[in-house]
Amino acid sequence: MSISTDDRNTFESDLNSAKEDKDIDAIIDVAKKVAEEGDKEWANKILKQAESMWENDGYRSFDTETLAEALFGLGETEWANKIFELAETACNDYNSYQMLAGTLFKANEVDWAKKLFLKAENLAADYELVHFSKRINDTLEDKEWAKKILLKAEDKATSSSELDELSESIREILDDTEWANKIISKNMGDEIDEDKDTCDSCGEYFFEEELKVRGQALHGDRVDWAFEENILEFPETVNLATIEFNFEEFDNTAKQDPKETESSEETFGLIKFLCPNCRKPYHLYCGEKGKIDRSFIPSNGFRTIEELITDKSKNGISMIGQKFNVKFCFFIDGNTFKHRGGEQTFECDGFEDAIEQLLNSDNIEIGVQGFNRYVHYYDIEILT
Ligand SMILES: [Zn+2]
Repeated sequence: MSISTDDRNTFESDLNSAKEDKDIDAIIDVAKKVAEEGDKEWANKILKQAESMWENDGYRSFDTETLAEALFGLGETEWANKIFELAETACNDYNSYQMLAGTLFKANEVDWAKKLFLKAENLAADYELVHFSKRINDTLEDKEWAKKILLKAEDKATSSSELDELSESIREILDDTEWANKIISKNMGDEIDEDKDTCDSCGEYFFEEELKVRGQALHGDRVDWAFEENILEFPETVNLATIEFNFEEFDNTAKQDPKETESSEETFGLIKFLCPNCRKPYHLYCGEKGKIDRSFIPSNGFRTIEELITDKSKNGISMIGQKFNVKFCFFIDGNTFKHRGGEQTFECDGFEDAIEQLLNSDNIEIGVQGFNRYVHYYDIEILT
């Protein structure tokens, strides 16, 4: 099979523009198409050009993968291995080793990949260890190795975000909630009262200089409710238990805003800091923590009148009458946590100041969204 003149011209022009753009991917693409059309010799010539561009670019990791893949695809195993060897000589840090190791693993060079992962581990900075544990777990699915890395990371992690990331990975990779929680409590430190201004551990005053604290929105929950009752009346006596009736209109009326509602809200933020003297971690909450109460909700309620009626007649209560009083609780309920901006750092001269800054921050919003509006039918009485 030989390439038609038209195709040849297209390939040539694609190749020229790829070279002008210094786009290795595009050059390799042309080589693949040329090979598909049967001109292996020309394809190899183009790949040679891609290879020298890759060499001149300092063996960029992404290109290593594309180039090696193309070569394997064309059965050029030896050449692909030469690419890997060259790429290895160019590796000099955690990232380059772990990238190449991943590429080698994809190319089924498992032992070689492991060797390079080990080198990556030795070069990994403290903050790269958690990433590395994920990499080992995702690529090699080696939980033992991932665990060893996480243990090392536990020794090294100090900042709040590092500890957060670490506890998340421990949960994700090892499903070890106990260990993850231990890290979280190490990260949070002891809870401190906002009236306190000295360290339990070293006795120093916190606010000798402006204290650096980190604040974030943590939780939002709110319920608005009203106890209501509406009359359900028929032109003649009916048995509600057996009647064919559409309660939709009644239900829609019940779901309209009541005149007055009560509400209960629990929305709070978290402030974390280290004692400026001994570095002991502390935390305190701001906002409404532990304030929400749903105990008033009647436990024998239903979302639809039909369910309430069925329940009544199942308990042997007659549902025959002309006029009924339906009792229900109206709800607007939202417990989807809403926040914005993640963690933010403040400098404060007291905890009151810190709390005020967090609650008034433009970047952090503590609240709720995703409200549900519903009615909880809990009783029905026959009036006549
Ligand atoms: Zn202290």
